[in-house]
Amino acid sequence: MEKNYRAELTACLGDPVDGNPSCVMHESGFHALGLNWRYLTLRVGEAELPAAFAGMKAMGFRGFNLTMPLKRAIIPLLDSLTEAARIIGAVNTVIHRDGQWIGDNTDGKGFVMALQEQGVCLTGKQVTILGAGGAARAIAVECALAGAAKITILNRTASRGQELADRIREKTDAQAEYLPWEGTADVPAGTDILVNATCVGLFPNGHEKPDLNYSTITDTMVVSDVVFNPVDPLFLQEARRQGAKTVSGIGMLVLQGALAFRQWTGQEAPVDVMHATLEAEFG
Ligand code: NDP
Repeated sequence: MEKNYRAELTACLGDPVDGNPSCVMHESGFHALGLNWRYLTLRVGEAELPAAFAGMKAMGFRGFNLTMPLKRAIIPLLDSLTEAARIIGAVNTVIHRDGQWIGDNTDGKGFVMALQEQGVCLTGKQVTILGAGGAARAIAVECALAGAAKITILNRTASRGQELADRIREKTDAQAEYLPWEGTADVPAGTDILVNATCVGLFPNGHEKPDLNYSTITDTMVVSDVVFNPVDPLFLQEARRQGAKTVSGIGMLVLQGALAFRQWTGQEAPVDVMHATLEAEFG
């Protein structure tokens, strides 16, 4: 049989993007399944996005991920959106299928699956989310769709926090409220699941943690962080000191990637391989 040296192409687009580790995770998955696929890390700003996308279409990319600042900017360029992407209002994964370019958002589903992997069920739970950016929006929507009873958003910027709470109330069955985050905040009473969905504590600022009164975290709470580098951020260390069960951001990163992997390749992602690769990457 004639050899085929042409690789199938996927990528992550954004700016800044140099520190994004998705390439090592996906390429370890492709390698484990014997797929001649590549995952490129491409620095693309908002102004360059239309030209970059036209080039990817010409080269027949199989799909790609988007990170800051492109998760919303890509939307008008796509043929359609999944329900999750439409409700969240942002796209982190594009799938090229039957000539169509479809926008999806796997961040929130990856988060919910990472909790479920640790035996945490969302049905009827009160979820408090720190932040109202892209990650927070995806997590809030998917927690609500997964059956959470109430979503509370704590954010510095009132307009973003209020808009997210309103969106949850309008688009899902969950209750939602916005609480201003001024100075050191208490974790709202009744919280079952607390999520840091800000970038506070992210490398190279691993010495920082969200400005909370940590004594208001209790041993009945599950506490999770979207920050995955460092693997065990100060926020989670503090939560464990209060007796809470913690769930790290690596699980979300792997599982949101695994969902994209399956949509692009049609094959189940080798999640264990991808997880081990990332843990090794961050030492
Ligand atoms: P955005 O820029 O969209 O949002 C950042 C959020 O953090 C905003 O709500 C902002 O508040 C808040 N924030 C920033 N600095 C502070 C601070 N000092 N104190 C309190 N709040 C602060 O970023 P993203 O949502 O895209 O990303 C957030 C984090 O999620 C990043 O660390 C990213 O790496 C991580 N992430 C992890 C994923 C995973 O799979 N584990 C997937 C996607 C993202 P304000 O509105 O007031 O500015």
